[in-house]
Parts: sequence; C-alpha cells; structure tokens
Amino acid sequence: MTAILIKNAHLYSTTEHWKPGWLITEGQKIRACGPGIPPDFKPEFITRTIDANSQALLPGFIDLHVHGAVGYEAMDASLIGLQEMARFYVQHGVTGFLPTTWTANRQATQAVVDLVQTLRGPLDGGASVLGVHLEGPYLNPIRCGAQDTTQIRRATKAEALEFLDSGVVRLVALAPEFLENLWLVDECSQRGIRVAAGHTAATFAEMKTAVEHGVQQVTHCFNAMTGFSHREPGTVGAALALPEIHCEMIADNIHVHPAAQKILVAAKGPTGVILITDAVRGAGLPDGEYSLGDRKTTIRDGAVRLPDGTLAGSVLTMDLALRNIIQSTGLSLEEAWPMSSLNAARAIGVSASKGSLEIGKDADLVIIDNNFKVQLTMVAGEVMWEA
Ligand SMILES: [Zn+2]
Repeated sequence: MTAILIKNAHLYSTTEHWKPGWLITEGQKIRACGPGIPPDFKPEFITRTIDANSQALLPGFIDLHVHGAVGYEAMDASLIGLQEMARFYVQHGVTGFLPTTWTANRQATQAVVDLVQTLRGPLDGGASVLGVHLEGPYLNPIRCGAQDTTQIRRATKAEALEFLDSGVVRLVALAPEFLENLWLVDECSQRGIRVAAGHTAATFAEMKTAVEHGVQQVTHCFNAMTGFSHREPGTVGAALALPEIHCEMIADNIHVHPAAQKILVAAKGPTGVILITDAVRGAGLPDGEYSLGDRKTTIRDGAVRLPDGTLAGSVLTMDLALRNIIQSTGLSLEEAWPMSSLNAARAIGVSASKGSLEIGKDADLVIIDNNFKVQLTMVAGEVMWEA
C-alpha cells in the first residue's frame, strides 16, 4: 500500500499547530501525524518522502458552490467537463467540490444529478465530486442575479423528490419566503441535506421561520439577498444575527468588499463562514466572452458580468479566497483555515472523513507557500498535482 511521508511542514489540525510537524498516509487515509521530526519508519514501508520546507500543510480545500472552469460547467452534464473542472480545481488546492447547477428546466437539472450518481471518488487526475448543489430553480425572481428568471419556479414534490431520491444532492439553495418551498426545507432536513437561503428576498421574520424549518446556511452572503437595515434587518441581518445560520461567501473582493468580509467574520466567527468560489465557465481562461446557457457573459479584470452589468459568478479560486479573507480580516492561518475546508465538510455532513488533518481521515491535503500558492495537492492519498 502507498505510504507518503510529509515532513518539515507547518501542520494545522483542529486542535494543534505543529511547527514543524509531519504526517504519513497509508492508502487513501492519514495513518499518523505528529509534532517535530517524524519517527524512524522502515524505509521499505515508505513509498515517497516529501519535504514541505516549512510551508503550510492544510486539509484540502472544499468548494461547495462552484459551477465551472476552463470552458466547462456542471450544467453541460458532461463527464469530460467535470474531469477538466476537477483537474483545474486540484491545481488550486481543492480536493472535493459540489458541481453546482443553475436554474434550468427539469431535464437539464436531472441530467447533472444522473451524471454525478455514476461517479465515485476522485475524478481522473483531479478533485473528488462530493455530490450536487442545486442552486435553484426554487428561487425568488426579484433577487435572481444571473439566474434565468424564465425557469424560476416553486418547488413541486413530483420534481424535487426525484432530484433528492438520487441520493447525491448535498445542498439545496432556495428562497424560503415562499410558503410553497417550505415543505422542501422540511424534507431536506429529514434527509440530512443542507438547505441554504439564496437568491431570496426574505425578511428577518421570514428567515426566522426558515430556520425553524431547518435552513442552516445562506448562499453567497450579501449577494442576491435582502440587504441589512437597522429597522428591517433582512436576509443579511438574519445571516449575521442568527447563530444557526452559516454563511457562504465569495471572497473575491468584487462580490464582497473586504470591509464587509471583515464584518461577516467578526459577526459569525471563523466557524460560521464557508468560503466558496461560485466560479463559472471562464475561470482559468483569459478575459473574453463566454456563454451562460444561451446568454453571453464578459470576463474582464476578474469580474464576470452579463451585458447589463449583473455579476454572473466569478473566476475566483479557493487558494485566492483564503488569501483574501486573511488579508481582509487580519486573522492568522491557524484561525482562518477552517473557512476553506472544515466548515464546508461539516455543512454537507462529510466531516467524519474530510475537512481536517486527523488520523483515519481521508488523505486529502494541500501544501501552500507564504503567498498561498499551491505547491502540492493530494486527493485520497495520491499526489494529484505539484508545482
Ligand atoms: Zn452560484
């Protein structure tokens, strides 16, 4: 069985920060880790030794909200597309992700669900698909962002239960202010599927009701939701004030100003924020025009926009998101790293095996340099990428 030893790392676990520390894998799992110099393992036992050169060793990043990259999107429902996306993400330290749908007709959404049902473990040369994130179609058209309003609808049992029965849906973003959508919140809660309030015009009171039904997250906090006012705190106020709510955030400094990033982390603490990219087809490609369904988007200066200027996803990567949040908040890496992995793993119920560097968990990890540039990514005990 493959056993890879990583030594001389700054290792961040849930309880410790070892400077230096070491970690050894066995097959797909973390076999052992500890502070200082590694013990003398038998040479015949070790497949490879990696010197981390005092760089940070973190759990691999988990991106719960990501639509595409390098010319592909989840909505293409193409295996090659998902593989190319997974290979791109792994270069940026991602070891697990949820391909995320856009609001679309039933057949197009079902096709993505069906494809993911056929996948197991890491995609060829890339990150692992951990399930599907349905972003829509049960949203509020008045907070549609770049979602296709002609396809936005209320949740019906005939349709939504077929998506859920696939067993691969891990996260559903919906507008909880519509009473017709609340049954789906109940249903997802019973099945252990995370529900986020997203593309929503919910008031503070409607968010409190949503939380009672089981909503525990908001989709890209601040974006496509009712803003904060001191008389009507809105969706943003509920996200900030209610401890049950965990907040996705696109920390690209375009969707959310660095000061707003700082406010969110101050309100929620680093355990309450989940970094996401919301990356789309043009991520990893040069500036230019790219399609979003049958519409055109333009990528320029790191922003993706529809012709009317509406932001339509991002070209952000998770390594950059972690760097940005540390710059905007002043937190240390020791405090900030769970926002890029562990919080996401907890949100979708996979933290028993993913999201932190602990003995017996999956050997999904990343080594980054002082500028947060990814040096090496390992998925399920296999080095998938190195600089
Ligand atoms: Zn999105």
